[in-house]
Amino acid sequence: MSPARQDYEIADDVPVLIVGGGPCGLLQAYLLAQLGVESLLCERYPTRLDAPKAHALSPRTLELCRQFGLDVNEIRRLGTGRQDAFWVNFVTHLNGQQVGRLPYERMDPGVLDDTPTMIHNIPQPDFEDYVRKQLVKNPLVEMRKNHSFVKLEDLGDSVIATIEDRAAQREYHVKCKHLVACDGAKSAVRRFLGVESEGEDSYETMMTIHINANLYPIVQDRVGMLHWVMDPEVSGFIIGYDLGGNQVLICNFDSQKYPVESWNESLCRKTVDAAIGTHIPYDVLSYRPWILSRKVAKSYRINRVLLAGDAAHSFPPTGGLGLNSGLGDVHNLAFKIAAIHHGHASPSLLDTYESERHPVALINAAQSVKNGQQIFRLLKTLGATDPDVHVARENLYRTLADPERAGAVHEGIEGQREHFDNLGLHIGYVYGDTRVPGCASVYQAKCVPGARIPHAWIEPSKPVVSGLMGPIDSSYVGELSMEEVERKRFSVLDLCAFDAFTLFVDGECAVAWRGVLEEATAMFPPGLRIDLVARGRDFDLQPGEAGEKWLELMQLVQGRAVLVRPDQHILTVFRGSPDDSMEVVEVLRKYLAW
Ligand SMILES: Cc1cc2nc3c(=O)[nH]c(=O)nc-3n(C[C@H](O)[C@H](O)[C@H](O)COP(=O)(O)OP(=O)(O)OC[C@H]3O[C@@H](n4cnc5c(N)ncnc54)[C@H](O)[C@@H]3O)c2cc1C
Repeated sequence: MSPARQDYEIADDVPVLIVGGGPCGLLQAYLLAQLGVESLLCERYPTRLDAPKAHALSPRTLELCRQFGLDVNEIRRLGTGRQDAFWVNFVTHLNGQQVGRLPYERMDPGVLDDTPTMIHNIPQPDFEDYVRKQLVKNPLVEMRKNHSFVKLEDLGDSVIATIEDRAAQREYHVKCKHLVACDGAKSAVRRFLGVESEGEDSYETMMTIHINANLYPIVQDRVGMLHWVMDPEVSGFIIGYDLGGNQVLICNFDSQKYPVESWNESLCRKTVDAAIGTHIPYDVLSYRPWILSRKVAKSYRINRVLLAGDAAHSFPPTGGLGLNSGLGDVHNLAFKIAAIHHGHASPSLLDTYESERHPVALINAAQSVKNGQQIFRLLKTLGATDPDVHVARENLYRTLADPERAGAVHEGIEGQREHFDNLGLHIGYVYGDTRVPGCASVYQAKCVPGARIPHAWIEPSKPVVSGLMGPIDSSYVGELSMEEVERKRFSVLDLCAFDAFTLFVDGECAVAWRGVLEEATAMFPPGLRIDLVARGRDFDLQPGEAGEKWLELMQLVQGRAVLVRPDQHILTVFRGSPDDSMEVVEVLRKYLAW
């Protein structure tokens, strides 16, 4: 039987308890604070591991950071320069033969027609530090390190979590309205609630070896973000966070031959030396085994408990979709939790968290597995998968030396393109549409409910610009002229406030729509806002094809208007002339379930 609530001695009573202070937990706390919601964040460990883990922040992640006031210009300065990150190299070993080369994701100037913030590479700990710095002294966030989730009880209208203060070796109780579990792939919250996952729990053991070599003299002009090493002794890839002194080698290893307990620095050195192909000085900063898995929790919401990030899903790292999916989760959650806390929505709004984010995870998980399989296919083409390393190595070099196999090798490399271009998955997901995209790389802007509003570069009017984040600095794209950089400073996305709905209309109908919104707002719960943004009054599109395409998609003619949610996804398209405020009220009432 559940204890009565008075049986608990409540140490803290907070609106939101966040379990886990990894990137998703930290960002969740930040986003909620921006939305005026207080949270307590409990992190199990006193310090975090220094191994860099994820390296890529997707365009969508950067878009949502910018929306909430994080400075993407600064984030970009913190990570790997575009020049160094541009390529994926396929090599026998770093010092050896180049088997092929592909662009690493979309960093060409053309991608700026689809997103204002192209992908950026930054070591995960640096991103975490950046977000953490924004939380220090934030009165709406309290962070407790070395405090671990133990168990919870859901009392229906609140949750009581038991937290262990590990230094003091004592437990205490936190009462919260919502608990967001961002406690990683082995989530104690998920396990406590018995939430099952679909997918494979483990299918391969991997080793991450963190080193600090100066690889510039080795790679010379073959710089790149990723270096896939075909040598069968390694079979893995080097992530070049900083080719001058911060890299990770992620490799498969045969745990039958080398049980995890037998790994030591000398085995790491042997593997890294084989990957580099020559002896150069470096330190082995850490090495850590981990299990490749594809898991997606069957439920994301258990009444007042929400699973997010790796606690909800974990994928193989092939595709860089793991971290970004998690950051997308907490963005989706933030405005919904805030709407409930501010009395703008009923708790059932949170049902849409699972229905929207779960399909995204399933698709991203499947793509990550597919990417891994494609790489294995390439290794097979090269003959590098023979279980005998010596035979495999001979096969590899024989294949590469054989002119008759050159076509097959080239095809094998070309077959990896989708793996390294996930633009469609990064920004193209449409909430409510669970179809699996034919190709992860293809992004087609859409103006339909559930889609992220299409991007276009704009010139905001003077009164509007003062309320926006500072301009984007696109000058890191060296191919752009000064004029082009000047035109790529503000995006349509900048017009969507994180704490309001936004109605996009044409200037000609702005006055009529203003009247409709005034009437409608009088019927909203206090504080719920729709901002009206009119083309030709509040902003103009930058001249060019991309702007014309945006106009065609949005069709802001004859009173048509597009209502965008606080997370920049389209809620609805009003097709008629602006005369009925009840239509607006009903759309919001239905969505927010007030
Ligand atoms: C070697 C490696 C390489 C990777 N490379 C990539 C990549 O290139 N691209 C990519 O997108 N993703 C990559 N990932 C995945 C990416 O690192 C994760 O998706 C990301 O860290 C998930 O963030 P999170 O905040 O959900 O979970 P985590 O980063 O795992 O954070 C969870 C936090 O919860 C804390 N915690 C755990 N239990 C408790 C408890 N009981 N109480 C309180 N706190 C608790 C943990 O200490 C931790 O700080 C990689 C992962 C690994 C392991």
